[in-house]
Amino acid sequence: MAHNAAELIETPLLDGDLLRQTAIREIRAQIVTLPSVRAHRLSNTEFSHREFVLVRVRLANGIEGIGEAAVLGGPRWAEESVESIQAAVTRYLAPALLDCPAARPAEAALRMAKAAFRNNAAKGAVETAIYDALAQTLDVPLTLLFGGALRDRVPVLWALASGDAEQEVEEARAKLAAREHRDFKIKLGFASPEDDLRRLRRLRDEVPEMRRLIVDVNQAWSEADCRRFLPALQELRVDLIEQPLPGDDFEGMARVAAQSPIPLMVDEAAFTHREITRAGTMGCGSVYSLKLVKSGGLRALTQAARVAESSGMELYGGCLLEGSIGAAAHLAVFATLPRLPQGCEHFGPRLHVSEIVKDPLVIEDFHLCVPQGPGLGVHLDEDRLRDALRPS
Ligand SMILES: [Mg+2]
Repeated sequence: MAHNAAELIETPLLDGDLLRQTAIREIRAQIVTLPSVRAHRLSNTEFSHREFVLVRVRLANGIEGIGEAAVLGGPRWAEESVESIQAAVTRYLAPALLDCPAARPAEAALRMAKAAFRNNAAKGAVETAIYDALAQTLDVPLTLLFGGALRDRVPVLWALASGDAEQEVEEARAKLAAREHRDFKIKLGFASPEDDLRRLRRLRDEVPEMRRLIVDVNQAWSEADCRRFLPALQELRVDLIEQPLPGDDFEGMARVAAQSPIPLMVDEAAFTHREITRAGTMGCGSVYSLKLVKSGGLRALTQAARVAESSGMELYGGCLLEGSIGAAAHLAVFATLPRLPQGCEHFGPRLHVSEIVKDPLVIEDFHLCVPQGPGLGVHLDEDRLRDALRPS
């Protein structure tokens, strides 16, 4: 029987049962605190406990999905804090998503975009939980919803960020001996450039088995600093320099990149697709750091990867020190990318003394393994979670 246009628009794209089964019934946001194995220092902050927001989305069929919204020691790396994320989720995103089917993630993203401006970490965690619940309902791994996995593991580096050269040398040696990490990222910018260079020189001299060495300046240098210290970084065989200048200094980054024999990586400068295009076409760097907290959703993260590549940048799997839940979410996308030449930095699961999942991610033979099984592939340990919840 012929349908008229109105009937066609009304015709569900998916089986009506699936839409009913996956209707969102409840969204919760809980603040979790986990102690780190050691203090972690960046150019503008330092912390020994990591706080994040656990988002739980329950569907009409009773299935619950989970997501993680990461911050770095308060609203310092970006503007969101665990308190603002919890408020954005419970007060604005959750009401907007009530009854939306998880089987329509594009509609969920649209509803969130209308309900709140930016708030990318909050949206990213909610969308992860929606996708997790949908993939569990369909009984498929989350990678399948992004095109299917092209790899089952991703090279993973470790960040040395205590600022204590002696400790960093020992930590690097231990990671190499355990065959967990052979590539390292060194956080710079909390000491003077001269002191930072002394740390780097000790690492290169005393850990010769170290393979790649990346430095992350977290926006702490001036253009003049770059001109002064680039030759020393080149002499130390640094492979990649991450965001040396402030995020909004696109022109400065482009000038430094044009001079530098070492590739620059764009991180804090580019959240939106338009910013990524601008950074790539202006020549601000040759590598882009993909992060859920910048893209605001897993679907947007896959799109960011395409935009960065088409703007001339290689891809790097960035993190904001997420634990196993957030790392598994990133891996669901990273595993499906045709090219990920720079590997990833999702060492966060090993930075905590304990985790809140029964099945923390596995790092072996210098790679992070993509979890198997339906959904994200990681599951809450309710006892551990109870112990880790921040008292309200
Ligand atoms: Mg960075």
